[in-house]
Formats: sequence, C-alpha cells, structure tokens
Amino acid sequence: MIQHLTSTSATETRCPRCRTALLTALDDGIPARVNATPLPDRQAEITALINGQWTYTLTRNQHLVIRDAERITADTLQGTIHAEHTCTGPTQLTLDDLIGNK
Ligand SMILES: [Zn+2]
Repeated sequence: MIQHLTSTSATETRCPRCRTALLTALDDGIPARVNATPLPDRQAEITALINGQWTYTLTRNQHLVIRDAERITADTLQGTIHAEHTCTGPTQLTLDDLIGNK
C-alpha cells in the first residue's frame, strides 16, 4: 500500500528577512519555500542546482513538486520552475532590529 503524504496548494508569502515574494507549500509532507519569481530558463535552473538549491515545478493545480534528477531528465511536469529561497537578506539582526529602533 502506498502511503499518501500531504501536499498542499502553494500560498503566497514574503520572507520575513529580505521581503522577497515567496511561495510555500507542503510537498509530500515536506515544507517547500521557493522564490515566487520563476526561473527564466534551463540555464538558470542549472545554476540554482550548482548553488545547492532545490528546484520545484509549480504545477497547474498549484502544487510545488520537487525536481529530483529523475524528474529533471524526464521533464514531463508542466508548469513554471522555481528555485528554493536562499536568503540574501541581512544575515544578522542588529541590536536596532531587535529593539525596533531605526
Ligand atoms: Zn529571504
């Protein structure tokens, strides 16, 4: 019997640190967090993979499906490709951030 794991529809959110628009969803029970802006082409996906980011296909029913090597090679999933969000925002909170001063 195949165990059914939860996948949820992608919802729009923003990174609390760098304010980038993101999409989040559960993919087979595993949280996915990707940049809302799709990757423009295959080269961009390869670059993301080289950088150690996972890539996901946003399917027509708004699920984020992780692209493992098998799926990338087969390339049968329809939809836009999104890279996992890696934060380029502030890497360290300053004391001012913590106490809310600007
Ligand atoms: Zn971020």
